[in-house]
Amino acid sequence: MSTSGFTNEQETYLKAFISGLNQGQNLPHLGQDAEGRFTHEEEETVHGTPVDELSREELIKHEQNGLDCWDAIMTNGLRNEFPKDGDIFRYKFHGLFYVAPAQDSFMLRCRIAGGALSTYQFRGLAEMAQDWGPGHADLTTRANLQIRELEPKNCANVLMKLADLGLTSQGSGADNVRNITATPTTGFDPDELIDVLPYARAMHYYILKNRDLYGLPRKFNISYDSGGGISTCADTNDIGFYAVRVGENDEGVEPGVYFRMQLCGITGHEQFASDCGVLLTPAETIPVAAALMRVFIENGDRTNRKKARLKYLVDEWGFDKTLAETEKKMTFDLRYFPLEKCEPAKPKDKQGYLGIHPQSDGLNYVGVLTPVGRVTVPQMLALADIADEFGRGEIRLTVWQNLLIPGIPDDKLQDALTAIQATGLSHQNSTIKGGLIACTGSRGCKYAAADTKGNAVDLGNHLADRMILDQPINIHLTGCHHSCAQHYIGDIGMMGTKVKSESGESLDGYNIVLGGGVDDQQAIAREIWKSIPATEIQPLVEKLLCAYLANREDNESFAAF
Ligand code: SF4
Repeated sequence: MSTSGFTNEQETYLKAFISGLNQGQNLPHLGQDAEGRFTHEEEETVHGTPVDELSREELIKHEQNGLDCWDAIMTNGLRNEFPKDGDIFRYKFHGLFYVAPAQDSFMLRCRIAGGALSTYQFRGLAEMAQDWGPGHADLTTRANLQIRELEPKNCANVLMKLADLGLTSQGSGADNVRNITATPTTGFDPDELIDVLPYARAMHYYILKNRDLYGLPRKFNISYDSGGGISTCADTNDIGFYAVRVGENDEGVEPGVYFRMQLCGITGHEQFASDCGVLLTPAETIPVAAALMRVFIENGDRTNRKKARLKYLVDEWGFDKTLAETEKKMTFDLRYFPLEKCEPAKPKDKQGYLGIHPQSDGLNYVGVLTPVGRVTVPQMLALADIADEFGRGEIRLTVWQNLLIPGIPDDKLQDALTAIQATGLSHQNSTIKGGLIACTGSRGCKYAAADTKGNAVDLGNHLADRMILDQPINIHLTGCHHSCAQHYIGDIGMMGTKVKSESGESLDGYNIVLGGGVDDQQAIAREIWKSIPATEIQPLVEKLLCAYLANREDNESFAAF
């Protein structure tokens, strides 16, 4: 291996490649005006929007498709340099986020359909975190995995190793369809209506293999809920597919398992997805989603980033026009069916995947707490060994920043639990740690007003020493209004904000919201406290939870309290 991070063979090839490369030779001429906006010599439009009205990010995409910046990744890598200007945004098409000034390095965001990983893949990701990253990885709220502190010289090898593992990071950032999520217990959940992993995987590959589905007006989220008792927050997605059973009916619809299509969830904008009246067979979900995305691509706002999500197109058009335009791109008609004629959905069991649970095939799965989603390399390697030795060689990630090990026979359960405990992790959900969710925060994200992960871990340790919980409670800490940790759906949600001390010093702090939930407990949390210094959140949350434990009736949930 050479000092550049490439093998000697790769370096020789690259040097020859770069010397023969006239970068940008095929690009349209772009100038920049006094404000740094790109200008074009010729009048052009992008999906009907004149080029001179495009947002900065749209101009960057128009200048060069983000998928085509591999040359930049390779050449910057050889020089161990970070990307500049528009390439910073284009790198995100490959899942590479240059996170300066928070850290002078890259963060890699993978994409893992349905959060399902083989132990071979999980081990490979651990090796990447060890060899090129900080010795740990972060599980995300899209059942995904991120590795930080990557140097430019290692980026190409990181992406090549991902491909070797059968994984990718393509389209996991920028204006693309993000990781497809699915119920984490699907395929072995005794209560589910259908195994949704094959559909999540088919959607994942459909998006990856269709170049026109990159470079949307803004990011786009899709999720599959299998109809059981475990939530995957599908109603927080642009498209949430919910499995339902349809019995005998007078609408002419064949009884069976279908999906309801919910649209326009975007909790950072305080909106859940809502049912649009459409009932789909499982196989129909992919062409319908593809048609709807193409309608969004052609008609979404490309001038104002704040109005560029699907929600704003649907706000303007309504469901009727949006679905009529979608139908024009399909070879079959949409099937409308009243929601109330579907069999009622099973209530969700909040945090019900943590601990030990029987599977539909007589085996068991164990839900492991990984507070705020951080797992060290030794823990990852040990979890992979446990899943191989006692389970079926698979690990499932959840949107709650925890993970599951499926396929454990009864007679191996105790040994598996002992081995999990030896990693320093736990399957026992008796403290707040199982429900702690935090975004990257100020240690790794330039937008953060607070150290969310650090504050969350300290809060979890503080509360664990003081109380035992017998009801699931989620606490979500998010560093800014982008709401990556979805504070509005937490029982207790916190959004980072800067607070002035009495001496005028700027301190980390939070606005605190209460009463959020998803699915059948759906609620946008309401703001109760503003500008609480981070140093005061421990006593405040402790008092709040003590008041709940002392005054609740019977087993009243925190949400009901
Ligand atoms: Fe960064 Fe804000 Fe997202 Fe947290 S919520 S990771 S601070 S962008």
